[in-house]
Amino acid sequence: MGVITKKIKGTEDVLPKDSYRWQFVEDVMRKESAAYGFKEIRTPVFEHTELFARGVGQTTDVVQKEMYTFDTKGGESVTLRPEGTAGAARAVLEHGLVNDSLPIKASYFVSCYRYEKPQAGRLREFHQFGLECYGTQSPVADAELICAAQSIFDRLGIKQLRLEINSIGCPTCRAEYHKALKGYFGGCKDELCDTCNSRLEKNPMRILDCKSPVCSKIAGGAPKITDYLCDECKEHFASVQKYLDAAGVEYTVNPTIVRGLDYYTKTVFEFVTDFIGAQGTVCGGGRYDGLIEELGGKHLPSLGFAMGIERLLMLMDKQGIEIPKPSTCDLYVAVMGESASLKSFEIIKAVRSCGLIAETDVVGRGLRAQMKYADKIGAKFSMVLGDNEIEQGKAVIKNMSSGEQTEIVLDDTFAEKFMVLQLADVDSFKL
Ligand code: ATP
Ligand code: MG
Repeated sequence: MGVITKKIKGTEDVLPKDSYRWQFVEDVMRKESAAYGFKEIRTPVFEHTELFARGVGQTTDVVQKEMYTFDTKGGESVTLRPEGTAGAARAVLEHGLVNDSLPIKASYFVSCYRYEKPQAGRLREFHQFGLECYGTQSPVADAELICAAQSIFDRLGIKQLRLEINSIGCPTCRAEYHKALKGYFGGCKDELCDTCNSRLEKNPMRILDCKSPVCSKIAGGAPKITDYLCDECKEHFASVQKYLDAAGVEYTVNPTIVRGLDYYTKTVFEFVTDFIGAQGTVCGGGRYDGLIEELGGKHLPSLGFAMGIERLLMLMDKQGIEIPKPSTCDLYVAVMGESASLKSFEIIKAVRSCGLIAETDVVGRGLRAQMKYADKIGAKFSMVLGDNEIEQGKAVIKNMSSGEQTEIVLDDTFAEKFMVLQLADVDSFKL
């Protein structure tokens, strides 16, 4: 097969027969987050490279190794978004939303691009659903955000997803922690990978998130951030937990979670599963009190999360969660000859305007082939239109599963009568 009929490594297609699975989870996400007061934001797929370098952080894997960055014909450096938070924050600033009443609650669906090694659950183009809440430092917002993610998983019927939380403190308590980490990792400099060695001075916390087996083994014995939190951060973290307890959300405190993006402060959390192999983090998020300021805005404590839709679908599949199949064709009108074909256009238009699914022949097939097609697409009812039917002004509608036949007049009341017939069938099916 030639190169143009092969997709790029690390990308996936969603075919028409499978797209209902995506639509189902997206629908649940949209409805559930709306119940928490979040409204959708849509931002461009590419942004100035500088936005991600600043927002996500120069010393992160994402910025150092994974971004799709290129120069445009105009000589500007642009980057395909590796995540959704920076773009949403940029839009919030650009449109002055920070001057509206706070908090601002935004949700998003984004495709993301990261030059990673493709494997199960790790793609180069993947999709995220995320929530962002700008303009609150209250721990209630942290708990509410986590509850929103939990509600989505509950609605989707997902089980055995562990919620792990941590606090990575504020710049004040982190200064002490950085010193401790530098001391610890400095002692095993020679064993750390090159990237981690370069992180030692500027951002030693990043070493805790390194995927190399040697580094992560060393990281296992590193000092824990929870022992270095200042009073304010400690209190904030305790309060988040109090609210989660009140909401009946189960969690464990895992002091090793640091998250892979530099903008996080205080609360960080992950939803993790053992069902889908090594790439088991389905959702990650936390507080990013410094991000808006970093991007040139005023100090605006904020927080958010993103969940990977591909990993979520993999998990639902592994757990055998059934996703309702979309309805198939309600009426297929088979036609013989041009005048029948023209009449069928009138009829299916009326049926469609009642909210039903109707199809007719658009290929020019013979009658037998048309009926075969109707069967294949699972049409619930079919009808044959020829010169006879048009002359007599009526046609026979066949219930494809029971074989029952009903005659309907081909006038303005057709769609209405078909609706009644179809509803009666739905009712009898239910009984
Ligand atoms: P990981 O530790 O698995 O690399 P991450 O910390 O890089 O994840 P985030 O940047 O926080 O992930 O993104 C949030 C979510 O997006 C992840 O929890 C995951 O579900 C999904 N995700 C991240 N990278 C990929 C990828 N390359 N392919 C598919 N999904 C991804
Ligand atoms: Mg990653």
